[in-house]
Amino acid sequence: MAVMERRVTLKSAAQIERMAVAGRLVAEVLDRVGAEIRPGVTTLELDALAHEMIRAAGATPSFIGVPGPAGAYRHALCISIDEEVVHGIPGRRAIAEGQIVSVDAGAIVDGWHGDAARTWVVGDVPEPVARLVEATRDAMLAGIAAAQPGNHIGDISAAVEDVALKHGYGVVRQFVGHGIGTEMHEEPQVTNFRSGHRGRRLEPGLCLAIEPMFTLGRHDVRVRPDGWTVETLDHSLAAHWEHTIAITPGGPRILTEHPARVPEAIGA
Ligand code: MG
Repeated sequence: MAVMERRVTLKSAAQIERMAVAGRLVAEVLDRVGAEIRPGVTTLELDALAHEMIRAAGATPSFIGVPGPAGAYRHALCISIDEEVVHGIPGRRAIAEGQIVSVDAGAIVDGWHGDAARTWVVGDVPEPVARLVEATRDAMLAGIAAAQPGNHIGDISAAVEDVALKHGYGVVRQFVGHGIGTEMHEEPQVTNFRSGHRGRRLEPGLCLAIEPMFTLGRHDVRVRPDGWTVETLDHSLAAHWEHTIAITPGGPRILTEHPARVPEAIGA
């Protein structure tokens, strides 16, 4: 999710370890939910699975209770299909062959948040659609690789945007990445495009959610009357990937992934 509050906090090494516990739970939830994504499953069933896993771990879903224009959010996941970008509300609709399904999950463990999203393709999709999904993930990883101490927020934004520019994708501008810690949304914002500012210098202890949202069409989005679901104005397909990371003296550390699966290119 991507709504803003206004606080920058730096975390100690011990606090980052606690965030890694929350992050690992989020990774496990996304693994499990991803394994269940198939034609016929409803988004509410996926949400129930995630909710149960988070509760069973003694944790709390980050998204439940987040205030919105039509009342507080009531689900553990946001599930956004095809032209939906982010904040899709789980419900009775069933997933269908050929769709792209983005799942955003957040969990709080002992007061610390983890926040991550992945986009899956359901069965066969046209090659340009598969490429959108892959390139959005590549952009997230490029942004993470740029999150080195001494760099600036703007370096992350530029690395992400460059991937979109290469493919001609729309880069959603109304929703952006964010700081994260004991609040799901802290400062600074992390735009997925060059904002014209270098932004804050990256230093060890800064924890960020890096989350590109790319479209096959234009970047313009609107919020549906349900108060949550963000969709592309031109109904072009959209993909969304997100990791929570910590800046460490040795480089970025992905917190929302199993340590064994962190891509080598990101390592210090
Ligand atoms: Mg987020």
